Amino acid sequence: MMAQSAQKMGYKVIVLDPDADCPCQHVAHQFINANYDDLAALESLGEASDVITYEFENISANQLQTLVSKYNVPQGYEAIQLLQDRLTEKETLQKANTQIAPFVQLTEKNDITQAVAEIGYPFIVKTRFGGYDGKGQILVRDEMDLEEAQELISNQECVAEKYLDLYKEVSLTVTIGNDNQITYFPLQENEHQNQILFKTIVPARVDKEQEARNEVNKIIEKIHFVGTFTVEFFIDTDNKLYVNEIAPRPHNSGHYSIEACDYSQFDSHILAITGQKLPESIELLKPAIMMNLLGRDLDILEDQFSEHPEWHVHIYGKNVRKPDRKMGHLTVLTDDIEQQEVDLLHKFEGRHH
Ligand code: ADP
Ligand code: MG
Repeated sequence: MMAQSAQKMGYKVIVLDPDADCPCQHVAHQFINANYDDLAALESLGEASDVITYEFENISANQLQTLVSKYNVPQGYEAIQLLQDRLTEKETLQKANTQIAPFVQLTEKNDITQAVAEIGYPFIVKTRFGGYDGKGQILVRDEMDLEEAQELISNQECVAEKYLDLYKEVSLTVTIGNDNQITYFPLQENEHQNQILFKTIVPARVDKEQEARNEVNKIIEKIHFVGTFTVEFFIDTDNKLYVNEIAPRPHNSGHYSIEACDYSQFDSHILAITGQKLPESIELLKPAIMMNLLGRDLDILEDQFSEHPEWHVHIYGKNVRKPDRKMGHLTVLTDDIEQQEVDLLHKFEGRHH
């Protein structure tokens, strides 16, 4: 989607991806099939490019730093370095004075007693590196769950975090220009199922937009960044806002912006990294619902696409379909969110085995 946005503006795109089957090669002018830490491949990407960007945080921060010193990488490496590790991410959020859930570092399995003492049940153990869509996370409700969590900690360093009683989840996508200009997308309301984003509704049906912007502003002061990024928030049942995590790239919860806003999160990202002026503000043209299409959803729904032109279906072109793999998404623009939400929910019924 980022490549398509760049091409629309007349740029040529080279993609580097370790997956020989990666869908993006089919919407790029050139494809380099190499690992993210393959320095020779990164050099050839750098030599051929005027600007380099990334849209995945689990790349090598060290190699990215090497690239930054030689080529034009507006996003820089600092954000990746701080945010690909949940521990340094949380420390950064603490330094920025944002509100986050209480946490403790878990280096070895006996550290879990400290989580029980300091945080108390229930808490959630998350690996420091490499987790996404809830992977590498274990919810510890009571003593019965300790052993499983300790096994995870024995394999990988983790953090434990208080499991909050959630009222809602929201996210705020912003784009930062190379002159520190900042432009905000509307606050997004997110619902997860099995820790995977299920749907996003915009505008969010909570009064937290200004508070969320304030939290984002504090974070931006602490991390150098150019381009689009998203901050995920929790709202607990006491209506308190907590920063959950930061994605230093366009984000799944911002996909609705392709149809629903006057600039998509990819458009504004490309404007930022190519050094252009950003729009003063982003306008939501119509309220929207974005639903992810996992493999299990495609199984149920793909026969119905032809009946629903209002769905704005996006299929990413991944070769292998798996029940919990994100294969695409759909976006519906509507002035009646409540009704559309009910209708879509009905269509997605049956996804729970
Ligand atoms: P990732 O998105 O990298 O997999 P997250 O930390 O965002 O990891 O967790 C995924 C989802 O799991 C969250 O969006 C939320 O629904 C749930 N979750 C994670 N941590 C907590 C928590 N501390 N309290 C309540 N729910 C949580
Ligand atoms: Mg998340």
